[in-house]
Amino acid sequence: MGALWHPNCFRCDTCHQPIVDEGFRVHNDRPYHTSCYKELYHPKCDVCEQFIPMNTEGLIECWAHPFWRIQYCPSHEMDGTRKCCSCERMERRDAEYVTLDDGRNLCLECLGSAVMDTSECQPLYLDIQEFFEGLNMKIQQQVPMLLVERQALNEALDGEKSHHHLPETRGLCLAEEQIVRTISRRPRLGAGNRIMGIKTEPQRLTRQCEVTAILVLYGLPRLSTGSILAHELMHAWLRLNGYRNLSDKVEEGICQVLAHMWLDSEIVSGSASNIASTSSSSSASTSSKKGAKSQLETKLGEFFKYQIEAHPSSTYGDGFRAGNQAVLKYGLRNTLIHIKMTGNFPV
Ligand SMILES: [Zn+2]
Ligand SMILES: [Zn+2]
Ligand SMILES: [Zn+2]
Repeated sequence: MGALWHPNCFRCDTCHQPIVDEGFRVHNDRPYHTSCYKELYHPKCDVCEQFIPMNTEGLIECWAHPFWRIQYCPSHEMDGTRKCCSCERMERRDAEYVTLDDGRNLCLECLGSAVMDTSECQPLYLDIQEFFEGLNMKIQQQVPMLLVERQALNEALDGEKSHHHLPETRGLCLAEEQIVRTISRRPRLGAGNRIMGIKTEPQRLTRQCEVTAILVLYGLPRLSTGSILAHELMHAWLRLNGYRNLSDKVEEGICQVLAHMWLDSEIVSGSASNIASTSSSSSASTSSKKGAKSQLETKLGEFFKYQIEAHPSSTYGDGFRAGNQAVLKYGLRNTLIHIKMTGNFPV
């Protein structure tokens, strides 16, 4: 600082107490007690609220989530800290998560709009079908949709002759005849924040056309459930419209494009009605099926879009990025015509 100080004037910039014999730190030409400096500038963990420890080389190694911009101690990846299966955020000390009976953890924000049983999911399924109609892509057959537990989804996946999917599969477009256990009654919140009392019943699925049914994992937020439905309905549309032998990358890529487009349409309509609700007090309480989305839900929707955009796999990630480029450049209709003729995205 290049200046001489009277001992009594040499005070910490944050607690204003004199700095006597302990060490001090300088920041922007202002002096601080070492401890006050640490309190101000040493990064704290968003999960455990402690200072993020230094590693063996004396550097602060902190991990961060690229979308949520939360930073945390690397140790939480291994120490059993719970992670929301939907939004990927880690459980903080001040937030309580719930555990679904298939072991998945859910944060309360995601639980807030979670879709829990097949009948509750029907209006959303109709919304997605309307979305396809609006794109001039009406699904001509009635395709049943069932909400299922993780185990039922995996069993159905095993029963399919050919399907390429992710380890964390959340939806499935069935082509074979199967018996699937569907969730017929929503679970409730029990002791210890465990979800219990779920009721399932077997349903025999027979094939009327090339698609038997669409299955979706239960307990995910509405916008996530909807984007999975849009993805699976696009698989159905492709099959019902004679798109055969597409590579995994092209098929999954274009399905992800539809999921992303639906999320976009929801986020736009959500913020539009938010604006409307600020101008008149009465509309705030009338929440239609596409009613005002809370800021929280909009943020979650943006996260689901980000998840699609940044997906690391070559099938889903690169497939989406190539498909999205093509749709932005040539439009959805022309892109689909090109895929049908060549099996590839136009470049
Ligand atoms: Zn921590
Ligand atoms: Zn969450
Ligand atoms: Zn798929």
